[in-house]
Amino acid sequence: MPGVFGKGRICAVAAAPRAAALAEQVRRGLLETRTIELRLDWLRDSGEIDRFIRWIDAQRRGILRPRRATLIATCRRRAAGGKFRGSVAEEMRILREAARAGCGWLDLEIESAEKLAAEDLKSLGAAARLLISYHDFRCTPDLRGVARRLARAGGDGGTAGGAIKIATLAKSYGDAVRVMQTARARRNVVAIPMGELAAPRVLALRAGSALAYAPLAEATAPGQLSLDDLVSLYCAGRIDLRTAVYGVIGNPIHHSLSPHLHNAGFQARRINAVYVPFLVRDLRDFLEARRALGVAGFSVTIPHKETLLKLLDGCDPLAAEIGAVNTVVVRGGGKLFGYNTDYVGVLRALERRISLAGSAVLILGAGGSARAVAFALARAGANVRICARRPARARSLARVVGGEAIERRHLRREFFDAIVNTTPVGMYPHANESPLAAGELNCRLVFDAVYRPRRTKLLAMAERRGIESVSGLDMFVAQGTAQWEIWTGERAPVEKMRRAVVAVLDCEERGKSAAHK
Ligand code: NAP
Repeated sequence: MPGVFGKGRICAVAAAPRAAALAEQVRRGLLETRTIELRLDWLRDSGEIDRFIRWIDAQRRGILRPRRATLIATCRRRAAGGKFRGSVAEEMRILREAARAGCGWLDLEIESAEKLAAEDLKSLGAAARLLISYHDFRCTPDLRGVARRLARAGGDGGTAGGAIKIATLAKSYGDAVRVMQTARARRNVVAIPMGELAAPRVLALRAGSALAYAPLAEATAPGQLSLDDLVSLYCAGRIDLRTAVYGVIGNPIHHSLSPHLHNAGFQARRINAVYVPFLVRDLRDFLEARRALGVAGFSVTIPHKETLLKLLDGCDPLAAEIGAVNTVVVRGGGKLFGYNTDYVGVLRALERRISLAGSAVLILGAGGSARAVAFALARAGANVRICARRPARARSLARVVGGEAIERRHLRREFFDAIVNTTPVGMYPHANESPLAAGELNCRLVFDAVYRPRRTKLLAMAERRGIESVSGLDMFVAQGTAQWEIWTGERAPVEKMRRAVVAVLDCEERGKSAAHK
């Protein structure tokens, strides 16, 4: 069911203190989407507001012609979280001017709408379509009360082809679901679960929200995703009720590369699915909300790989033995079934470079990924030694895989076929750190599970000593494509998925090296 904004469901938000900068943002926004919100309240004074409205008027037969652009004018007052310091009467004057200049929609906050006489609201509604909005930047209150208030303020939207907007801070996935459900089975509701959880902003479109917002410059509300991510990474404009939802749960999560990997696969195979990062602090909150969010499967990362195992309905025997899951499939009746693809990931990364049977391998770290790596290498016939900063953890992991623990002070005396780092040491933003010193690299090959940056300090040191180095990227792509195949039942377009991740890393590493020059 298309919403009242039709195909232009991604709304770019233009907000700047000067008319010229605001106009420039509008030009840029129109390259990506046709719906633009104009935050007139961000303009620094009435002179800039008048100048900008004259510019819109001048462009109404040019780049802002109605077939090409849907403009939503907003002049939100401070009482409703905006920047406009004037009175309700001044706000009305500006919105009327904006409508005359060609803005097809006016976003009027409920605080102002409630102050207007019925005939004033009606005459504003005759000038342009009204989006009556409710914002709560502190919490998500009882939304039935909010809906009643919006209806009382003349904003049920149904009558004059208008719409309502409910934007509240979602502190939990439970809150986010309540916001999203306000859009269910209605064409004229914009539902925005604001806040750091972020993913619900994308998923609200699946629930029927008529719009999702993205800033063209500075964020104008908490947790906004970039326009580029909404358009290109999540293909948010194409999301509908049939879109299958996947994601990665973890904390922290916003810098995960998994959305680039998995969405590239869905796009290449034209599968109606989206993969989003879920910031999860409270596992139960996410698990309770997952059905309403439409989650069909998810990846699991720090710190949930071991805890989640206890909350599953079933588990692949290998993952149960490893004691950690990195992949979950939602099966019939909403049952959760877990797998561990880190296991195949490390094997695919190492097998073609070294013969594992009978080899001596040192694993640094004894956490979630160390468990999968240790099981995989021991099963492949390697003699596994484990070195961790907490020796008791190293001993306990060594015991279950039939290997041995080794203390750091003994490393210089030993020689290994391979050293595998499974600690996060050396990962951005601590790229100048290494889990070992150069003198401790007595081996033929070093594999670093860290893949951000690709060439970690550990790998750079190994290369300088003539030792073969393997980036964690190979394992990342292998474990991720294995997940993708479990979920879709199709062969993964591995090269395309890999290229999507490499493009992000290239860009990031170019940016970082430029910053250091
Ligand atoms: P984890 O469960 O938290 O385990 C981390 C391990 O590293 C623990 O043994 C921890 O020791 C140790 N450690 C942490 N900081 C340390 C430090 N400063 N010095 C020495 N040891 C330290 O994390 P994980 O899930 O195994 O992930 C670890 C790393 O592997 C991350 O960088 C992750 O991105 C990467 N990884 C990569 C892939 C891939 O596909 N390439 C897959 C999975 C993970 P304590 O127990 O004492 O805290």
